[in-house]
Amino acid sequence: MQDCIFCKIVRGELPSARVFEDESVFAFDDIHPVAPAHVIIVPKKHFATLMDIGKSDAGISEKIVNAVQQVAKIKAIDKRGFRTVINTGDEGGQVVQHLHVHVFGGRRLKFELE
Ligand code: 5GP
Ligand code: ZN
Repeated sequence: MQDCIFCKIVRGELPSARVFEDESVFAFDDIHPVAPAHVIIVPKKHFATLMDIGKSDAGISEKIVNAVQQVAKIKAIDKRGFRTVINTGDEGGQVVQHLHVHVFGGRRLKFELE
């Protein structure tokens, strides 16, 4: 989408610190990290939320899971452990309306919903 910030990052129109990329997904460091490793993984195709992935796009889920594994290895948190989060919609706390997965790691994470 034209004005979507994550689409702009995918197209290289906004700078980002790239962590991993393949033909379907793009991963970059979060601009406001809340852990030593905090990476955002996005599908290159614009989906507003998790709820917008349809049956015909099913392959993207595998691509995203593969990207999580690659990012975890690149950040050396694959064996230490890490957390993945997908915020969806208003009450889910989603701020950027382009489907994205957070990968947090590099320190012991507490479980907090608030
Ligand atoms: P949400 O709350 O939508 O799940 O999270 C959006 C995330 O995107 C936030 O953690 C925020 O710091 C990150 N973010 C927002 N704008 C930018 C940006 O322009 N560049 C990068 N690298 N991260 C961004
Ligand atoms: Zn987008």
